[in-house]
Amino acid sequence: MLRSVLVPVDPERPDQRAIERAASVLRAGGLVAFPTETVYGLGANALDPAAIARIYAAKGRPTTNPLIVHVADATAARELVATWPAAAESLARAFWPGPLTLVLPKRALVPDAATAGLPAVGVRVPAHAVALALIRAAGVPIAAPSANRSTDLSPVSAAHVERSLGDRVDVILDGGPARVGIESTVVDLTGPRPRILRPGLVSATRIAAIVGPLAEPPRELATDAPRLAPGHMERHYAPRARLVLANADDASVVALVRAARARGEIVGLVSLGDLELPADVAARLPCDPARCAAGLYATLHAFDDEGCALVVFEAPPLDPAWDAVRDRLTRASTPP
Ligand code: AMP
Ligand code: MG
Repeated sequence: MLRSVLVPVDPERPDQRAIERAASVLRAGGLVAFPTETVYGLGANALDPAAIARIYAAKGRPTTNPLIVHVADATAARELVATWPAAAESLARAFWPGPLTLVLPKRALVPDAATAGLPAVGVRVPAHAVALALIRAAGVPIAAPSANRSTDLSPVSAAHVERSLGDRVDVILDGGPARVGIESTVVDLTGPRPRILRPGLVSATRIAAIVGPLAEPPRELATDAPRLAPGHMERHYAPRARLVLANADDASVVALVRAARARGEIVGLVSLGDLELPADVAARLPCDPARCAAGLYATLHAFDDEGCALVVFEAPPLDPAWDAVRDRLTRASTPP
């Protein structure tokens, strides 16, 4: 395929002609990468199985991994789902537009291709003017996983998308950096009690405060079977460099870093304030879950660009507020 067309758009007041052009690509069955507040999405018409197949092909994504369908508001979400329990209504009111995906039984108009054959669909209203304008202009719900090759680092800028999928997408809308920086919280509302399938910055505590006690999250499994969240694949969200999580007093990591540097490898360090090591490139992220998430993927992309073979990342605190960041880092990392 030809290289994709990169179209700059104002993240707050996108040019309607640019949006219309991208929307017509979507309506014609094409792929459009676009900014959302979480990460950049790789969008296709969610009601068109052939367009959905192009998402899976472009990403190299296992067809057992369902897609999140993006809509402009709760009314549009309700048109895709067979039930709309009180929990859906209250969570949508509290967190939409925003980084929360609700999984609900699907209606027949949602193709099986979008849900990996599952009877439920994940729906979300993104909090981003470009995404919302695109969905409205397309006039159809937009299925959109992260706009990167499967298992790679998620993109938080148009440049990241271009590098990963530049020859596999028709249009990339460049609306600047993604503000939230990590993927949405996914909540399953198909069971007797709501259950978190993937932690995100809308925390379990905030969700439980609205809908009451949650069911236990699914057991961690190192396979990619249906009904499992993407994080349940063993390696996901990973940089090219080997990523190791370390506490300030980890002697084994000091040895690891020494050995890597003795081999002439470039070593990166990401500190949250406590970890110090002799590294070739270093970054410091705020010791605050939301602010750390906002810089997380951008930092790992930058370290890949530096050619790091090893990145040591200070292990985040065990506090539940860090669940989402810890989840992404744990899945991207290997033990020291
Ligand atoms: P992403 O990789 O960011 O596109 O997120 C897709 C993830 O959302 C899936 O791997 C699931 O965790 C979740 N998801 C989407 N649709 C469903 C569904 N129908 N049933 C269960 N989980 C879903
Ligand atoms: Mg992804």
